[in-house]
Amino acid sequence: MILRRVLPFAKELLEKVVESGGVAVDATVGNGHDTQFLAELVGENGLVYGFDIQEDAIEATRNRLRENGLDGRVRLFQQSHAKVTDCVDDKYHGSVQGSIFNLGYLPGSDKSVITKPASTLMAIEGLMEILMPGGLIVLVVYYGHEGGPDEKDSLMAFLHNMDQSKAQVLHYQFLNQKNNPPFVVAIEKK
Ligand code: SAM
Repeated sequence: MILRRVLPFAKELLEKVVESGGVAVDATVGNGHDTQFLAELVGENGLVYGFDIQEDAIEATRNRLRENGLDGRVRLFQQSHAKVTDCVDDKYHGSVQGSIFNLGYLPGSDKSVITKPASTLMAIEGLMEILMPGGLIVLVVYYGHEGGPDEKDSLMAFLHNMDQSKAQVLHYQFLNQKNNPPFVVAIEKK
């Protein structure tokens, strides 16, 4: 198939912007798949900041990184991504290359712990402050769960109103798939 599925598409976008020696943010580490991916992209001289509010997620991610020898290049915070500007060191403000969010709940875990509109939007606003020009925020939006449609609607309203002179915003979605398939949104800071 020529059209990439959403997860490979999201990764392909990040590969274009996150370079060896760079700084990236995983806003929702979960089991750490994307954290590992970003840690590999930044290489041994780069740095990844990872956020999750669940202890289990932080622990699972820490273990995954250790097993793959990547823990030295990742700083994990059991903290809301809404605090991203406080947690990313000041010296990197303006040079973060890319960030990923997977919205929704952690598969195999408590389905009531979900990303929420207010903190998601605060995190996006914070990241827009600390991204480099040309940097990307990529969101994979799962919204089939309870609370998911509310978050999707708030997010889409926010994105439609983003100032065109500050960012361009892409929406990538398959229209004929059943059962609320996830979609990607990418924000490129100008
Ligand atoms: N990318 C992950 C992976 O590779 O396994 C999956 C992420 S899962 C869909 C969403 C995660 O967001 C959950 O682990 C959840 O605990 C976390 N989360 C929810 N609210 C959050 C917040 N305010 N800040 C950071 N993480 C949050």
